[in-house]
Amino acid sequence: MNNSMIQQSLTITALLEHANRYHGATEIISVETDKTISRSNWSATRENARKLSSALTALGLSQSDRVATIAWNNRRHLELYFGVSCAGFVCHTINPRLFPEQLVYIINHAQDKALFIDITFVPLVAQIRDKLTEVKHIVLMGAADKEAAAAIEGLLFYDELLDSASDNYQWPDIDENLPSSLCYTSGTTGHPKGVLYTHRTTVLHSLGGNQPDGIALSATDSVLPVVPMFHVNAWGVPYIAAMVGCKLVFPGPGLDGASLVKLIDNEQVTMALGVPTIWQGLLHALKESGSKVASLKRTVVGGSALPPSMFAEFRDEYNVDLVHAWGMTEMSPLGTMNCLLQKHATLGAEDQAAIRLGQGRAPFGVELRLVDLDGNVLANDGVTQGALQVRGYWIIDTYFLNDSTALTDDGWFDTGDVATIDADGYMVIRDRAKDIIKSGGEWISTVELENIAIAHPDIASAACIAAAHEKWDERPVLIVVPAEGASPTEADLLAFYADKVAAWQVPDKVVFVESLPLGGTGKVLKSQLREEYGAVLRS
Ligand code: AMP
Repeated sequence: MNNSMIQQSLTITALLEHANRYHGATEIISVETDKTISRSNWSATRENARKLSSALTALGLSQSDRVATIAWNNRRHLELYFGVSCAGFVCHTINPRLFPEQLVYIINHAQDKALFIDITFVPLVAQIRDKLTEVKHIVLMGAADKEAAAAIEGLLFYDELLDSASDNYQWPDIDENLPSSLCYTSGTTGHPKGVLYTHRTTVLHSLGGNQPDGIALSATDSVLPVVPMFHVNAWGVPYIAAMVGCKLVFPGPGLDGASLVKLIDNEQVTMALGVPTIWQGLLHALKESGSKVASLKRTVVGGSALPPSMFAEFRDEYNVDLVHAWGMTEMSPLGTMNCLLQKHATLGAEDQAAIRLGQGRAPFGVELRLVDLDGNVLANDGVTQGALQVRGYWIIDTYFLNDSTALTDDGWFDTGDVATIDADGYMVIRDRAKDIIKSGGEWISTVELENIAIAHPDIASAACIAAAHEKWDERPVLIVVPAEGASPTEADLLAFYADKVAAWQVPDKVVFVESLPLGGTGKVLKSQLREEYGAVLRS
């Protein structure tokens, strides 16, 4: 039978062509590495992306070759997102906060042929250049710079590449199943693993993630992605932004609260996305500056558990609706987002907040289920905890360059998270499977114990780990950083738990430290804490 409808590939090129055609004049604002602000728009982004595609092709790259970036959120990085993928190459974004050995591993494993860097990272790349076996071209994302040229042999310059690009270049027709971008997991244990997204999965993620009960961006928005473009494609925001033609505001390297407040006010930002630690900095800066960020209507917060106090502070002090989201690199990353249902409209503010503190519901395109240790599917009753498994249109099957599938026999991906799901589909992450404390056959959520500790006024940050215990196998130990100028005692802190959890869930011990060890994506390295403090309960 003939096709009854037009068959068109779902491609990243189509996203950008749409932005250019219908939103060409909409602004793209970018804080550059030297802190100046540049103003571009979707048409100029498309034009520069096309020139970049042309220049990369002229450098001799072949289809699906990887082009890496080590860069902040800025307009050249946006042009790379599109210019690399629309030419048929793969945009491999790399987290600069990784250790140099991890960077070398990732760049060599991905067989990156070209590497684009912001000037901040010239010393870092100069240090590892000799170990990068496949990289043929290193390009500084800016104008020619003598000092940088002296640090890295053969360094090319982005602006010169674009200036010399052919005017006649046309993007190729792209099969929607061709790879478009590559991200590596943070890999707190073992080597990081690559997740290779395709044009099709990226477009479906944009459509599915941007539904009204999800990210919900529109052409009326001015959007500030604080979540780095090297962390799971800034949660897909650059692609969604092209799809809806919204204004984008890139913060560059200035992620401190004061810089963000200024940017929000100056650029009339309506929506911002980032991890909880960023918003802690923002809330602090807001208190100091007195700004009410009047333009800001929504923030999307995800990447790690949301401290409950943050939701109320945004709502009550600034009239900002906080949408809690959960996801992971293997899911492109959007998995769930937390919005209310029609039946919740009559609930009071605190009852609504209680629902919205969880990680939320799956959009069309993602399915969730819980299983026990034997793989039996568990009830969605809001109480039963199990391993959270997912499947859907933008979820991994096989890690990059790996032979075997990452899925269960019946086609689900195990997230490594332990969760509950209620009858309405609201999911709550209780813990990472490897972090949860198994005490005398019962499970204790480290996330819950940490949230209580953080709510104590004398505590700045906290992590809870399982420590080996003779009688109970494992018991909770709390590792805390006191707030500036405060000197809480162990007894104070443990008393604080009395009316909040069952007695058997109260930590056995509190260890005071000056700081918590953080991994490349800003998450606490619990494996390191377990190594250090896992035996403190043994006599
Ligand atoms: P990554 O692939 O680096 O983005 O890490 C994914 C993991 O981060 C998930 O499997 C969760 O354990 C954690 N995570 C992400 N978002 C949240 C959230 N909103 N609440 C709790 N944990 C989260």
